[in-house]
Amino acid sequence: MEAKGGLTRASGGGCWVSAEEIEKWMEAAMQMAKEALENIEVPVGCLMVYNNEVVGKGRNEVNQTKNATRHAEMVAIDQALDWCRQNGKSPSEVFECTVLYVTVEPCIMCAAALRLMKIPLVVYGCQNERFGGCGSVLDIASADLPNTGTPFQVT
Ligand SMILES: [Zn+2]
Repeated sequence: MEAKGGLTRASGGGCWVSAEEIEKWMEAAMQMAKEALENIEVPVGCLMVYNNEVVGKGRNEVNQTKNATRHAEMVAIDQALDWCRQNGKSPSEVFECTVLYVTVEPCIMCAAALRLMKIPLVVYGCQNERFGGCGSVLDIASADLPNTGTPFQVT
């Protein structure tokens, strides 16, 4: 990652995000996290932004659904896939130009999913010391893993 003139660039993916965009979208992700908290979930919120449009958003739904895989990122990915279907877009083309904003560092499971979906850039708020998959526990984001998608940049 490079920072130049207030811009953060994901190398490889060709996605540029400005500090202003990060602030705007992270604020929206925080609102999702608050909604999770109000619904007695671990407060994590997530947005997927493609071409300056939110194509997927999610918050933790683990307790509500009694499904331990329903992390905010997984919910957002499902929504983004629906968005692709509704708009007649190819998911692989959309995902490779999508930035994912999430309030907490993606866990190991979600980081692996983000690799497989080939999302180039993830912007997260705080670190996840217990389950973090972008450096805190394991570094799934940048690890050299054969046949497991593509590494992604984190900021
Ligand atoms: Zn997760």
